[in-house]
Amino acid sequence: MARIGFVGLGNMGGPMAANLLKAGHELNAYDIVPAALQAAEAAGAKAVGSGAQAASAAEVVITMLPAGQHVRDAYLGPDGIIVAAEEGALLVDCSTIDVGTARAVGEAAAEAGKDMIDAPVSGGVGGAEAATLTFMVGGSDAAFERAKPVLDAMGKNIFHAGGSGNGQAAKICNNMILAISMVAVCEGFTLAEKLGLDHQKLFDIASTASGQCWSMTNYCPVPGPVPSSPANRDFQPGFTAAMMLKDLRLSQDAAREFDATTPLGAEAAALFGLFVGHGNADVDFSAIVNFLRGTR
Ligand code: NAD
Repeated sequence: MARIGFVGLGNMGGPMAANLLKAGHELNAYDIVPAALQAAEAAGAKAVGSGAQAASAAEVVITMLPAGQHVRDAYLGPDGIIVAAEEGALLVDCSTIDVGTARAVGEAAAEAGKDMIDAPVSGGVGGAEAATLTFMVGGSDAAFERAKPVLDAMGKNIFHAGGSGNGQAAKICNNMILAISMVAVCEGFTLAEKLGLDHQKLFDIASTASGQCWSMTNYCPVPGPVPSSPANRDFQPGFTAAMMLKDLRLSQDAAREFDATTPLGAEAAALFGLFVGHGNADVDFSAIVNFLRGTR
């Protein structure tokens, strides 16, 4: 069992930390929000006063922070995790952030002689609680092998996507595909409504024809055809529109920085920007079907 420093105990980090404790790991935990820290203490962690303190006696340091700037602030500089971490410690950032920051912080860690991986997740709060997250890991083979037993305590599918930053790359490419395909499915179903074609009939035909995709067969945006989809519970998330917008903006920043042509990704980002701006941040992203109908 490992001595782990855990920084960022929010909606995702809190249950992830609890699963590490359940698996028998020792945890020094830190969050700027006292209530989050108290919850981790109640689950069996030792609360400490900074990210650097959480890192200082740890074999593995895990961060689960909101965005790239938080990750830079936590890792870099004289009071950061990279300086504070023990010689030979493994650094694991599970936040969803931009590829550039992931690579810059990974490089700073390497210069200090410390292994670091980016390991963003999918699976949401439900997956974090049930320890069934998917991890997409960027970093060296050796760092991946070291991290795997720890990640296994929090997730079910652990993928090595390549070198530093490739975990983030996999995450934003996947979610850009998901957003575009969801909008496409929503457009198909709203056009069918205007044409007098029943939802179930369209589903039965398209789900076995060439329009088939995950957004339709696992997460259908209209009630009925897929009983487990958020459309059947008034679009309670699931995966919020705000989270999807964050990931789409990361994909578009990356497309600009690395000179990729992603016109449909750009359109999806604009659409979800409007949708979230109309007060829909906290509903499931598939509720964009109502925006296309003009009812949300
Ligand atoms: P959250 O806002 O609930 O948690 C972030 C935590 O970090 C908060 O408790 C905050 O107080 C803490 N924090 C911020 N700055 C800090 C600092 N300097 N030091 C210590 N703690 C600090 O967010 P979340 O939903 O847990 O998401 C975390 C990351 O996971 C994000 O990058 C998000 O995009 C990604 N993610 C979230 C979900 C989801 O469904 N919530 C799914 C997949 C990925």
